[in-house]
Amino acid sequence: MKEFDLIKRFFAEQPVRRKDVHLGIGDDCALVSAGEQHHIAVTTDTLVAGVHFFEDADPRAIGHKSLAVSLSDLAAMGAEPSWISLAISMPSIDEHWVRAFCTGVFELSEYYNVQLIGGDTTAGPLSITVTAQGLLPANKALSRGGAVNGDWLYVTGELGDAALALQFLKGNADVAREDQEALLEKLHYPKPRVLAGQILKEYASAAIDLSDGLLGDLGHICQASQLGANVVLDDLPISNALSANVGAEQAREFALAGGDDYELLFTVSQDNKVGMETALSNAGVKYTCIGQLNKSMKITTTLDSHPVPINAKGFEHFSEASE
Ligand SMILES: [Mg+2]
Repeated sequence: MKEFDLIKRFFAEQPVRRKDVHLGIGDDCALVSAGEQHHIAVTTDTLVAGVHFFEDADPRAIGHKSLAVSLSDLAAMGAEPSWISLAISMPSIDEHWVRAFCTGVFELSEYYNVQLIGGDTTAGPLSITVTAQGLLPANKALSRGGAVNGDWLYVTGELGDAALALQFLKGNADVAREDQEALLEKLHYPKPRVLAGQILKEYASAAIDLSDGLLGDLGHICQASQLGANVVLDDLPISNALSANVGAEQAREFALAGGDDYELLFTVSQDNKVGMETALSNAGVKYTCIGQLNKSMKITTTLDSHPVPINAKGFEHFSEASE
């Protein structure tokens, strides 16, 4: 049973339905009422040693990433990060480790003015759970289900660098010495697109953050919006480091199927396109139009205007690697 089937089968159907829950299980965040004017977006993520990060990873990076992945979910809703709770289990108390971990958490929380308001610590295998909450004006949140036929598909930043860094760490890929530091930084210190999300809530029709790879996460938008999409492979934003190390074709596969990008994937109507591009450019946010939504209910890709079959094998390989 896959993660999504498990959630659907056991947790999505439940006896309690409250009127102050505007969006429940199944998006990047839940949305609940906070008075008449505001909603609160809520998300929880767990990172487990040996599953989401290597046991011996730099504790500062683990702290950073634990918070960054949750802030990325808030960004995908257009919310302003406000409060976090932190539950951590660890085999023993290693003060040096905890201090470095806290540095990673607090340098990010300080930057975004997010306050740690509670949590729990227990003895056990190393595992970190962050619940993050963010404020936004009522009925302004972005969701996965708002895309409309003909909307343009965009992504922030560049794709695939973190996936290459992970394969490099696992010994499955070679990376030139001069590119190693920058690529590993992308894997260990993802930058949640909080500012982009807050701008996009004024323009975009749907959004999701890229945690599991472009194709899989685009699938969530398509499914929730009851649409299909075509991705123009020529337009995928790929860094020089990625293409220099693996070549153009494999770089596209990393960009399509690699996880851990924590960029935003979003859709915009023709009417909002220019306004959105202007607002993101003024804020210094890098964005790229990579395709368009359609009625096909399928995800397709084209290269040089020709259809290209999606390499399902590469996709599965990477989606396993990112879990
Ligand atoms: Mg997400």
